[in-house]
Amino acid sequence: MSRLDAILAKPRPDPGDLAALLGAQAPEEQTRLLAAAYAVKVREVGSVVYFRGLFELSNRCNKDCLYCGIRRSNQKVERYTVPVDEILGGARWAWEQGYGSVVLQSGERSDPAFIDLITELVTKIRGLSNDQLAITLSVGEQSEATYRTWFEAGAERYLLRIETSDPDFYRRIHPADHSWERRRDCLRLLHSIGYQLGSGVMIGLPGQSVEQLARDILFFEQEKVVMIGMGPFIPHAHTPLRDGIRNFVWKRHAQLALALRMIAATRLYLQDVNIAAATALQTLAPDGREQGLMAGANVIMPNLTDPKYRSAYQLYDGKPCLDESATQCRGCLETRITSLGETIGFGQRGDSRRFLGRNVAAATKEAICRKG
Ligand code: SAM
Ligand code: SF4
Repeated sequence: MSRLDAILAKPRPDPGDLAALLGAQAPEEQTRLLAAAYAVKVREVGSVVYFRGLFELSNRCNKDCLYCGIRRSNQKVERYTVPVDEILGGARWAWEQGYGSVVLQSGERSDPAFIDLITELVTKIRGLSNDQLAITLSVGEQSEATYRTWFEAGAERYLLRIETSDPDFYRRIHPADHSWERRRDCLRLLHSIGYQLGSGVMIGLPGQSVEQLARDILFFEQEKVVMIGMGPFIPHAHTPLRDGIRNFVWKRHAQLALALRMIAATRLYLQDVNIAAATALQTLAPDGREQGLMAGANVIMPNLTDPKYRSAYQLYDGKPCLDESATQCRGCLETRITSLGETIGFGQRGDSRRFLGRNVAAATKEAICRKG
């Protein structure tokens, strides 16, 4: 029996097996790995895909991450913040369409006007949906008081990628005043407040090893992450990490394959978490997100941002669907997902099973929501 088959025969891989899974590059090995992860997904969380409507609320950012197209130093970006009414209109549409959840994402700011804006949006989105739309925030590192204010306003989930669990590697892809420890502490705060905790990493960064990625998966478990939002790194021409671009055309296939193996290894190891098939997968292949679902992901985040803002929220080059409206996006996705034999969890919040297992109150809420 090959090493891969011996690992796949275990009820769950051991921590020391993860790097071998991530390194299983031979096409027939990769096929077996992905199929095993898909089977675990179906067993643990079903073949239901949950939609989270994504709003790219603002590209104003005080930070300067070396890989990101909307980093503060990129002067070529026209900055915007979507007006409150437009977001509320989009959230109402999402609720009427049966989306169980929306995500508010933006560059990082922590001034009082920004804190109030998020509080207002959370309160009003909960109000317009009779408290049914679950809200995920993805707006970076904030103080404990701010996280509490937003939680009390009704946000229940928070996505903050650690980017890499390796503090030294983190320092290589961020300016000196960005802190891995502060980010990790934010994750701990979010968990202690009661948020469903989401995190993730970029996959395939220049100089990143499969051993580091294996440790990322262990980090998710250690820090009690129940929603995984990770995706391939893709270079952006106006960032310091653009050097990867020259090699990127031929690297695309390998980058997608690695990202799929990372989804599969995470599903095999963590089993009952939610895992998103990131939009960045679609930049690497038109059906990249569907491939992510077949590798073990169970969440998709259709972009509900008005197309007029999308080109100014390019984190990386080649972002897909820049000019597609929310309606077009929904139609195209539905057909693609159902053709895989998966169903879409319309009218369901799609809370992370792992979170529900730990939190009886939330489990009751999910059950009531499913009945309704
Ligand atoms: N500003 C918030 C934060 O950083 O947590 C949320 C928005 S930020 C744009 C969301 C994620 O985009 C980051 O966590 C990062 O992983 C990802 N991202 C940024 N640049 C990227 C790139 N070049 N390739 C792939 N993902 C990228
Ligand atoms: Fe800002 Fe987030 Fe981009 Fe970093 S990744 S520059 S915090 S938007």
